[in-house]
Amino acid sequence: MDTFYMPTKIIFDNDCLNVCKELIMPFGKSCLIVTGRSSARKSGALDDAVNVLDELDIEYDVFDEVEENPSAETLEKARQSIGDKQIDFVIGIGGGSPLDAAKMIGVLLYNRKRHYRDIFKDGSLKSLPVLAIPTTSGTGSETTPYAVITDVEQQIKTSCQAKVFPELALINPKYFRTMPKSVTVSTAIDAMCHLVEGYITRKRTLYSDRLAEVGMSYFRQAKEDLMTGNFTSSMHEALIHASTIAGMVISQSGTCIPHGMGYPLTYNYGVSHGKATSLFLPGVLEMFEERDHVEPEKMKRILSMLDFGSIEAFEAFIHEAVGDVSITKEEAKAYSEWMGSNQWKLDSLRFEVTIDDLYELYERACRLT
Ligand code: NAP
Ligand code: ZN
Repeated sequence: MDTFYMPTKIIFDNDCLNVCKELIMPFGKSCLIVTGRSSARKSGALDDAVNVLDELDIEYDVFDEVEENPSAETLEKARQSIGDKQIDFVIGIGGGSPLDAAKMIGVLLYNRKRHYRDIFKDGSLKSLPVLAIPTTSGTGSETTPYAVITDVEQQIKTSCQAKVFPELALINPKYFRTMPKSVTVSTAIDAMCHLVEGYITRKRTLYSDRLAEVGMSYFRQAKEDLMTGNFTSSMHEALIHASTIAGMVISQSGTCIPHGMGYPLTYNYGVSHGKATSLFLPGVLEMFEERDHVEPEKMKRILSMLDFGSIEAFEAFIHEAVGDVSITKEEAKAYSEWMGSNQWKLDSLRFEVTIDDLYELYERACRLT
């Protein structure tokens, strides 16, 4: 069965917020803006949003304390900061961290009597409407229903059970120019991971595959400038399209094991999300070629669409972008067992992956001490 469901309205424009006033107006008279500490201001997106809200006579509060890889406690702090005040909708401005936080704050504000940890367990929770204004070109959170939140109690990052598609994805290419170089590279690689993983998962569909191919062609356009540090506006634009399209892909197909395997590297070693994930792609792609009995030739197609001559060239590209990550053998064993106990994630591929396979993937991706 091939299906496609992605209810987010996407607007891409150089004056995006201004041209969208009529679309924003119906959401209500009071909103909460959710951002990180500085990117919403640096990128100019916060000023643009506030000007439009003022013009529309919509009241707003700003919660600007979202950290990278946000914790559930931060979401609760945002809810507490509002008290009993009526909020009609939430605007998230920033990278994946503030956008994911905005989605789950929307859930907590809609369900004021529920415990904040319920976002991890209850997939039936609804949310206030969320508008997403991305400032990084990587996660595609503006077009996915997912929110990845740090669970301090369990000491890991996790994809929440509560799911929220933004109502609007408001994309202005000028907001991406202020990203630091390392964030540009890491988020671009995250988008590439979404395209590749989405292309090989069990849940891939005809529609997600065709979109993934378009997304990979945008990544290919940006690749050389990305690696040589020549950050042109056309490179940024190609990456925004790659990342937004990648969000549409994984909203159908989900991601697969590289995404799960990267989380401990981010949680324990602070390796940025895109980089941590990408380290596992070459190993998983080779496994896919050996074990997927439906479309094993896809690995070669991926390499060709991304313009890599071989899996070795692809792996060298990733290591050049990411650098070395060292973990202990004991950690690799513990992470493999943790990942191996996540049957839902293992089922994201059509072939069996054992705990020994997972250990080998850690061994290949990281320097084991
Ligand atoms: P991020 O954590 O949102 O931001 C990384 C850093 O970049 C922050 O310091 C941020 O500043 C800064 N920054 C962002 N945009 C900027 C701009 N335009 N100018 C200057 N600085 C800017 O990074 P991200 O990679 O986009 O998001 C990662 C998170 O998304 C992870 O938690 C990951 O698990 C999640 N994720 C979600 C999905 C999904 O479908 N929902 C998919 C993949 C990943 P501030 O601190 O000021 O914000
Ligand atoms: Zn990702």
